Amino acid sequence: MSATRVALAGSTGSIGTQALDVLVAEGDRFELTAIGATGRNPESLIEQARSHRPKVVAVADEAAARTVADALPECEVRGGGEALASLATEADVVVNGVVGFAGLSVTLATLEAGRRLALANKESLIAAGPVVQRARRTPGAELVPVDSEHGAIHQCLRATDNKGRVERLLLTASGGPFRGRTAAELAGVTVEQALAHPTWSMGPKITVDSSTLMNKGLEVIEAHELFGEPAGEHGYGLGFDRIDVVVHPQSIVHSMVEFTDASTIAQLSTPDMRLPIGYALAWPDRIGTPFGRIDWTTLGRLDFEPPDLDTFPCLRLAYEAGRTGGTAPAWISGANEVAVDAFLQGRIRWADISRVIAATLDAHDGAPAADAEAVVAADAAARRVATDLLDRFDTPGALS
Ligand code: MG
Repeated sequence: MSATRVALAGSTGSIGTQALDVLVAEGDRFELTAIGATGRNPESLIEQARSHRPKVVAVADEAAARTVADALPECEVRGGGEALASLATEADVVVNGVVGFAGLSVTLATLEAGRRLALANKESLIAAGPVVQRARRTPGAELVPVDSEHGAIHQCLRATDNKGRVERLLLTASGGPFRGRTAAELAGVTVEQALAHPTWSMGPKITVDSSTLMNKGLEVIEAHELFGEPAGEHGYGLGFDRIDVVVHPQSIVHSMVEFTDASTIAQLSTPDMRLPIGYALAWPDRIGTPFGRIDWTTLGRLDFEPPDLDTFPCLRLAYEAGRTGGTAPAWISGANEVAVDAFLQGRIRWADISRVIAATLDAHDGAPAADAEAVVAADAAARRVATDLLDRFDTPGALS
């Protein structure tokens, strides 16, 4: 069997470095042909290229690309806005671990090149749902989710050959660091507290999203795009009323699928992103390296409870945006990126994140997500509205 060629977009981030772990552990099975990143951290990109020896290195930032090219005369270094998307044709599988909406070009280029997309960048699928669905129909194109919940559902769905027998999807949520607290108790939480995730090791953006439950909200939309509607080659005909969230603080059950006979199939492991990354790389086979193996003698209990939508309104906002459809998911995702950024910079309080998002969605113009340009425009419009709102937050209480 010849090696599966792999390209990593976003190689220096949390998903990228964990994907490298998987590739190293699996030896000759995979061949790393290309890596790429936005260029905020050229030194680690250079270090990765020196240890893993890909042929191609892509850097979105032009100045960082020159630094990388000078350091790596043996590699083909590509710089500029299209550099990351150009990795799509360098491999059989492209891992998209780029953070945020910036990952859209990689998602579309990979599917349009008829390759497998191992998708960790949920924002591109959420913002550009209808556009991604079209690209998914390219012959040879495959989308295998890297998100642990969606990787779990992908596995659980294999329990039936009859799509009509799927009753509902159950996404599990750890509840984040603030589970069980009231809104009043969360008024003064700090960035450090929001970044202290109880079970998962992830980048800062998604960790803050976990603390607000926006991550779960975005994952509901992601599940709807991956497995929901329309019914057909990919979809199971499941609307938002058949995609539920259950809080499960131990993060052992990664998600579940309930079938029409009430059987519920779950996928379990200890929390380790290398498992879903390896699954997306190897599917329909599996990797041989056990990441996240459970020790049943010490596991103890598994708890489940409903989410608290009053304390964590982001989850409700995401359902609303998902049901509205069109460019509403692009708006909520864009507004969230602006709000999370402002929180990380200390400009707004944690509780303001959901308020910025809600106020931004109030201004949504209802435009359809007709093509990639419309989605890019919607993302920009949402960011403009959210950024304008932030100026009002500089006066504490202005939006109360
Ligand atoms: Mg997830």
